[in-house]
Parts: sequence; structure tokens; C-alpha cells
Amino acid sequence: MRIGIVGLGLIGGSLAIDFQRFPEHTLLGVSRRGETCRQAVARGIVDNASQDLGLMTAAEVVFLCTPLGAIEETVNQLIPHLNPNTILTDVGSVKASVVETIAPRWRNFVGGHPMAGTAESGLDAAQADLFVDRPYVLTPINSTPSAALETVASLVQSLQCRLYQCQPDEHDRAVAWISHLPVMVSASLIAACLSEPDAAVLDLAQKLASSGFRDTSRVGGGNPELGAMMAKYNQPALLRALTEYRHQLDRLINQIEQSNWEEIEQRLIETQEGRGGFVE
Ligand code: NAP
Repeated sequence: MRIGIVGLGLIGGSLAIDFQRFPEHTLLGVSRRGETCRQAVARGIVDNASQDLGLMTAAEVVFLCTPLGAIEETVNQLIPHLNPNTILTDVGSVKASVVETIAPRWRNFVGGHPMAGTAESGLDAAQADLFVDRPYVLTPINSTPSAALETVASLVQSLQCRLYQCQPDEHDRAVAWISHLPVMVSASLIAACLSEPDAAVLDLAQKLASSGFRDTSRVGGGNPELGAMMAKYNQPALLRALTEYRHQLDRLINQIEQSNWEEIEQRLIETQEGRGGFVE
């Protein structure tokens, strides 16, 4: 199959690396910078690359992998080049707004979101097997052609991910809890630590930071553009999640002020058990 990737960064590059291992696929890449296109071809990540969306005329399936903020403009520029049968899918971290933007413009569209990433961005961050054992969500709507859904589902399943399907707005509410809220909480944690006014204490804290801080600060130290786009495009669901989180913090502050150690321990027993519902 001729697979097009628009936006050769962390996600687009990683998809290309994995699809390229199948001899039946030809990979065509479009990216913003010429240097990225040259590198992607030189490293064998794609068979052909260009800054010109005209390259996508030959593609049977196109994965849109640009930052969220560039999706609408990219789709507007891409559509005149597409063959009417071409299937379009995206990898954006927010689904309702993306599906509302693309579905009315291109019938053969299937919204998607691979739940995998690293703190890095750009083609240099792309890696093989990024999606293995990770959830990959597809968000078809009533008008989504079943053949397009089946094609995208079978392609992403070849990456050995765990495939899920849901409504775009259900996706956005769910990822607000487990992806977008953690980014904001983790970023706030780093900001709070940096506010330590005593330079010697801050320096000591930075030297003593170990595995716990590495785990809890990881997503807050990731791609700033991506975090800002999560807030912009998933604003209501993220605000609901952050408000509940603030409520939880207020409860905890109150319990600590009241020296209510038993309640705190009980709550930590509940969260210790509850964590297992989200991660193994
Ligand atoms: P990224 O590493 O910054 O990659 C995006 C790439 O797109 C850039 O490297 C850039 O390449 C290219 N680009 C930027 N604007 C473009 C444009 N107008 N037209 C064509 N190419 C353009 O970002 P990413 O993390 O892969 O994120 C891409 C998408 O994946 C986003 O929609 C994001 O929501 C989604 N996503 C991200 C993660 C994650 O954890 N990072 C996880 C799941 C989904 P050059 O400038 O080098 O050409």
C-alpha cells in the first residue's frame, strides 16, 4: 500500500519507521522543512519525501501527523491534491475538534490517536516499535465509511498496538484525565519546585532528585507546543479535570492542616488500589 505521512516528527517518523518494515508498503513523506525531508529519505525512513503536498496524490492512505494547530490549514491545502478514494486519518491528541474540522471536508476520514510518545519531538526523536502494546484509539462517526475504518484499523493493528474505538467526545473526556491533566499537574509540580526561594535548598533538591521525581516530572517536561495545544483544543474537559484535581488538593491540604493522618492513610490506600485500574 502507498502510505503518506504528513509531518515527519516524533509520531509521523515513528509510524513511517514501523510501516517501512513491511515490503508491501511504499512510504511517502511530506514535512515543513527541506532538511527533515532529506534526512527521512537518507535514513530510509520514507521512500520519497517533499515539502510539496502534491506528493500525496499517489498515496492510498494519508496519516496527518502535524501539530494540532497546523491540522486545519494542512487539510485545506492537502485536499485538492488527494485522489477521491484516498483514506485520510490523523494522530492528533484531541479528537472532537479535529473530527469536526476534517469529516465535513473529506468523507473518507477516520480520526485516530496513538497513546504513545516521549518527551522529545522532531524526526530525530522518531523510533521503531513506539506503538507496540500501546493503546491506539479510532474515533469513527456515523458518516465514516466502514471500508475506510477497516483499512485504518488493519494498518494500525499491524503496529502491534491495542486498538480501541469510541466517540470523539468520549475520547477527549477520557484523555483529559489520563493524559492532559497529568501534563498540567506535572508541569505545575516542576514550577512549584522551581519557586523555592532559597538557592542552596533549590540546588540541594536538584541534586537529590531521583527516580520519584523523574517519574512524576516526565510529562511536564515534554513538548511545550503539544501541551499548549492539548489545553487549547480540549479546554472544557481539561478545565473540569483540573477543577476536580484542585478540589482533591484542597482536601489534602485540609487533612494535613488538621493532622488527620488516619484519613490521609485511608485515602492513600484507596489510591494505591485505584491505580491498578489505570496501569498494570
Ligand atoms: P513533532 O515531533 O513536533 O512532529 C511534528 C512534525 O510536523 C514536526 O517535526 C515538523 O517537521 C512537522 N510540521 C510542523 N508543521 C507542519 C506543517 N504545517 N506541515 C507539515 N509538517 C509540519 O510532534 P509530535 O509529537 O509528533 O506530534 C504530532 C501529532 O501527534 C500532534 O497532532 C500530536 O497531538 C499527536 N500526538 C503526539 C504524541 C506525543 O506524545 N508527542 C502522542 C500522540 C499523538 P519539520 O518542521 O521538521 O519539517
